Amino acid sequence: MQDTELKIIAFFLNNKAIGVKTSTGIEKSDLVVCNADFPYAVKNLIKDKYYKDEYTDEKLAKMKYTCSTFTMNLGLKKEIPELAVHNIYLGKKFKEGIEAAFTGAVPENPSLYIYCPSRIDRSMVKNGGECLNLMLRVPNLLFKEISWNNTDMELLTNKILKELENIPCLEDIEENILYKNYVSPLDMESKFNAYAGTAFGLSPTLTQTNYFRPHYRLSSADNLYFVGNSVHPGPGISLVLNSSKIVAEEILSSKFH
Ligand SMILES: Cc1cc2nc3c(=O)[nH]c(=O)nc-3n(C[C@H](O)[C@H](O)[C@H](O)COP(=O)(O)OP(=O)(O)OC[C@H]3O[C@@H](n4cnc5c(N)ncnc54)[C@H](O)[C@@H]3O)c2cc1C
Repeated sequence: MQDTELKIIAFFLNNKAIGVKTSTGIEKSDLVVCNADFPYAVKNLIKDKYYKDEYTDEKLAKMKYTCSTFTMNLGLKKEIPELAVHNIYLGKKFKEGIEAAFTGAVPENPSLYIYCPSRIDRSMVKNGGECLNLMLRVPNLLFKEISWNNTDMELLTNKILKELENIPCLEDIEENILYKNYVSPLDMESKFNAYAGTAFGLSPTLTQTNYFRPHYRLSSADNLYFVGNSVHPGPGISLVLNSSKIVAEEILSSKFH
């Protein structure tokens, strides 16, 4: 769905998905493939409890979730040839810093992934300079310690910029910023419907991995398939691609072939 928001997955009475309801009306279809985050979809897009299978709101609330991310995008007026396309910056007390996202905190000295695509693609910066995408792992919205309001954002962006000044070629980063925006866990939840604003969906813990992860189909509903982060086989681009391959093969080998 590009310009329309999926509102509900609709079913026939005989346990079959027959289409979806969107912001512009009802779309009938032979089958439905849902790429929205599984816990979000089951909680919000399936209204009838029967079709949720074991995934009641209570069960979803008890499951384990991955962290979220805070992403800052910067347009800089200065070129920084010292940067590579992919850069990893390790802050002080790296282990504590990485664990902070799972205790509801933001580390004092954040470690950062710094992506600088303009190093190999100058068309991204028409008037010269550099564009950066900075990523920090942060707690998901199930942790209530951070409210992600404007004050929290200001504190966090300042903390990140201060940390960046430790990198020799970025000491003067602040005075070179032409453009700045960010994507917070709240944006992940409201713009992308990620359950609890997570970046990677359900945690791949032992009891939520492989066969124990939600399957691509609920036993209560035929013709409804799920792909993505939170279903089998797991999170991350390569596994998500695998999940869509599995679903595509399943559909092709079914009566729709
Ligand atoms: C900052 C960041 C960095 C990452 N880095 C890496 C990395 O380096 N390597 C890696 O392997 N993985 C990485 N990941 C994880 C990877 O991006 C995800 O695992 C993957 O994108 C999940 O794919 P998906 O199809 O499940 O979900 P998405 O890519 O989120 O796609 C789901 C789509 O469904 C749409 N949608 C949701 N609800 C509705 C609705 N009701 N109606 C219509 N559309 C809807 C959403 O808007 C979204 O476009 C990263 C994630 C983040 C956030």
